[in-house]
Order: sequence, then structure tokens, then C-alpha cells
Amino acid sequence: MSENNTNGNSHLTEVTVLGTGVLGSQIVMQAAYAGKNVVAYDISQELLDKLPDRWEWMRGYYSTDVTGYTPELFDEAIARIRPSTDLADAVSGADVVIEAIPENLELKKQVWSQVGEAVPGHTILLTNSSSLRPSDFADATGHPDRFLALHFANLVWKFNTGEVMATPKTDRTVFDRTVAFAEEINLEAIPIRKEIPGYLLNSLLIPWLDAAAGLYVADAANPVDIDRDWKIATGAPSGPFEVFDTVGFNVSVNITRGNADATENQKKFADLLQERGIDKGRAGLGDGVGFYEYDAYGEIVRPNPDWEIY
Ligand code: NAD
Repeated sequence: MSENNTNGNSHLTEVTVLGTGVLGSQIVMQAAYAGKNVVAYDISQELLDKLPDRWEWMRGYYSTDVTGYTPELFDEAIARIRPSTDLADAVSGADVVIEAIPENLELKKQVWSQVGEAVPGHTILLTNSSSLRPSDFADATGHPDRFLALHFANLVWKFNTGEVMATPKTDRTVFDRTVAFAEEINLEAIPIRKEIPGYLLNSLLIPWLDAAAGLYVADAANPVDIDRDWKIATGAPSGPFEVFDTVGFNVSVNITRGNADATENQKKFADLLQERGIDKGRAGLGDGVGFYEYDAYGEIVRPNPDWEIY
């Protein structure tokens, strides 16, 4: 249950994650591995049937990236996960609902209004949206005082920031409890008290990715060489096209298509991501192929020749 105990630790034990795609599946495992009971909700049984494969994909990463990993701990986490395709059933016992459905404002409003009608009176309502303003759909939840953002980074177990961002209507206590919850699921909580489109990370990251995309559509250089330049000269571990692969092309395309002010270059790049990536099932690391081809451990094997200009 959700009462605070005398140590100030929250007892938010029952977690429901809406959407089991790239981020949702990672969030499910992050919470389950930290000991939470997790309901994984998606719109079809077919999608939920993919989860066991995702766990095995993640197990490879956990075994190398997570200190203290054991197969037993991972199996126990899997056993704490309950898949569901029934929304009311999925949220009716939740202390925390984390929404990771596609980045589409109308869809988020629609799903949140259904969730808002089915959740108990104490449930904290969190969105993982990357580019929409949480305040644009806070009222749709019916409980804007209990609604805010908890924004995960892709490869959650490793890049474990949790940006906690309030809307103007978020209750201060709910904000503080969300920060505590983020730490309970092994995130480094980053409190953002004023709503900023793109949080902290994406305010920095998106202009950088845009610049790389602009170089590519201007035929300046191959993606691998843009990445090499950035990595060698700055010491950064990844270049922008490796980051496009990690994020997954769907997110980039949705951000551009949802941006009324997108430039011609941004639109051209989004069309390329669609044609060469999404339409061919080669939309980044999650598919094993994006700008690069990956092995079963997510290591780069070679650049994908489809993207080479020269
Ligand atoms: P995705 O397309 O991989 O997954 C979305 C999931 O939502 C799919 O499993 C889909 O079946 C499900 N879904 C569709 N309609 C639904 C509905 N009505 N109810 C419940 N589930 C539904 O997308 P993603 O990359 O996981 O992104 C999800 C959210 O997380 C977005 O808001 C995105 O901005 C955010 N996010 C993504 C990343 C990233 O790197 N991919 C990082 C941080 C935040």
C-alpha cells in the first residue's frame, strides 16, 4: 500500500506500466528487478507474448551491466510481472501507474481519461512522455494533482536517470514521493520543479541529434564518420547515429511529425527513417539493425550499408 512509513520510505509496491514497447518493457523490468509487483499492460495478447523474448534480450545486458546480477534475481523479477490486456483490471490495484504508450497527444488523453476513472484514490500517475508537455494532458487524467512526469532514459538499467518533472498542478507531496519512488527502483532521481518541454536531457540532446541529421541530409559525410569524429574528439562513448539507434527510429519520427515547426531537413530525415528503417523492420537497436548492425549482445558489428552515402 501507499502509506509512508515512519522512516519516510514510501510503500509503493504495486506498479502498473501501460505500453510494453521499447521503454515500457524496460520500465517493467526495472521495477520488477527492484522488488515491485508489476502489471504489464498492452493492447493485445500478441504484444504481451513478445515479453519473454524481451526479458531474455535484457538478461544479457543485466548480466554485464548490473552489479550483483544473478540469474535467480532476474527470474524472481520475471515472476513478479503479470501481463494484462484489461485496462481496468491492470490499474485497479496500482499504487503507481507509469504510462509509456506512443507519443501521441490524443491517444495519451484518451488512455489517461480511462485510467483516471479506474484507479484508486491514492494512485500516483506518471507519464514517461519525451516531448509532450505533461500539463497538456494532466486534466484528462481527472486527477491533475496526482499526475506528473517520470522520464526514463533508454537502456534504463544502465542509463538510470529518472527525471521527475511537476506540472503547475502537481501536489508537492506527490512530487516528493515520486522522487523517493524513483530511487526505490534504482534510478538517480533528477528533480525538475518547473515544467520544461524536453526536460533537461532532451533540451540538450535533441538539438545535437538534429545537427547530425542535418549533416546527413546535406550529404556531408557517412553516419559512421560523423559518429567517429564526435567520439574521438570529445571522448564521448557514443555518436549521434548510435544514439538514434538506441532511441529507436519511431520516437524520432513521431517527434518530427508532431512538430508543426519542423524544418524541411527534419522532415526529409524523418521520411528516410520511415522508408529505410521502420518500414523494413530495421528501426534501431531494438530490431538489431538501424544505422548499424548489432550482434545478440547489442554490440555493433558494422555500419548498415543502406545508410552509406559514399
Ligand atoms: P513503442 O512504440 O516502442 O511502444 C509503445 C507501446 O505502447 C507499444 O507496445 C504499443 O502496443 C503500446 N500501445 C499502443 N497503444 C496503446 C494503448 N492505447 N494503451 C496501452 N498501450 C498502447 O514506444 P516507446 O519508444 O516505448 O515510447 C513510449 C513512450 O516513452 C513515449 O511517450 C516516448 O516518448 C517515451 N520515451 C521513449 C524513449 C525511447 O528512447 N524510446 C525514451 C524515453 C521516453
